[in-house]
Amino acid sequence: MRRLVQNTLKAPVTFEGVGLHSGKPARMTLFPAPAQHGITFKRSDIALGNTVIPARWDMVERSPLCTRLVNAAGVSVSTVEHIMAALAGCGLHNVRVEIDGPEVPIMDGSAADFVREIMATGIRRLGVPVRAWKVVKPVMVETREARATLLPCDRLKMTFNIEFAEAGIGSQSRELDLRNGTFARELCDCRTFCRQVDVEDMQANGLALGGVPGENAVVFDGAVVHAGSGLRHSDEPVRHKMLDALGDLALAGLPLFGHYVGEKSGHSLTNTLLRALFAEPGAVREVTCDALMTARLPGQGLVWSEIPAQVRRVA
Ligand SMILES: [Zn+2]
Repeated sequence: MRRLVQNTLKAPVTFEGVGLHSGKPARMTLFPAPAQHGITFKRSDIALGNTVIPARWDMVERSPLCTRLVNAAGVSVSTVEHIMAALAGCGLHNVRVEIDGPEVPIMDGSAADFVREIMATGIRRLGVPVRAWKVVKPVMVETREARATLLPCDRLKMTFNIEFAEAGIGSQSRELDLRNGTFARELCDCRTFCRQVDVEDMQANGLALGGVPGENAVVFDGAVVHAGSGLRHSDEPVRHKMLDALGDLALAGLPLFGHYVGEKSGHSLTNTLLRALFAEPGAVREVTCDALMTARLPGQGLVWSEIPAQVRRVA
């Protein structure tokens, strides 16, 4: 039996591209890191001061459209959710991310490129057991329109539903058990999406400047869908919301054992949920994973041939 221990990358991996919101180019390299390091970002384009930003829930600056991490010195990195989802989904616990710009490249709007390159590079096992957070008591947060809940569970499970007036989206719901490589098979190629009515608002506010409909974001304009060569799954939007939630939950700092239920929730509410989880006495416990628990982590059982190789089209 393979030793069930913390992982890192076998070698560095580099990605280049523009940020979805800033439109600015960036070169991002993932470096191997030792056990217990966790995930950190470092702004290599800033010479002075503390340029390291731990990928942790208490570093998140609230923003409805993406997840932005800011350290005490005011150094930030935006749109970390897709790379965080890829790292969590591939079972990587320790990685140093260096980036020479303010925002993670959006790639094709999904996490598929990240997952493919990580898997092609390979994963190195480190001789230290996996630590994790185990949800012990239910925690729920809500706004007038949305709700997010974490319930005790012996694995990471996710239930999500969304509801949009756009005919192209409508009501979508999905439930997934995120062990055994489910992330790579079911979620990693699902792209960022938005409504055409929101695009002009976003751009007037200096957001979505790097967005190209059909190329790095799916845009729903009533019943018309700008999705490049087509949707990759008939329910690609709700799957993308699950991808985002996995990335945002990874900011717990360790893998999480719990059942996340998202009802029209998003980045900001998922972060509020993590804050509530860690604020509530006795709601979460740090555990060292035994073999059975480690076997249920999202990255275990990931199979290379199951990773979507190319853009797929729903018939
Ligand atoms: Zn996203």
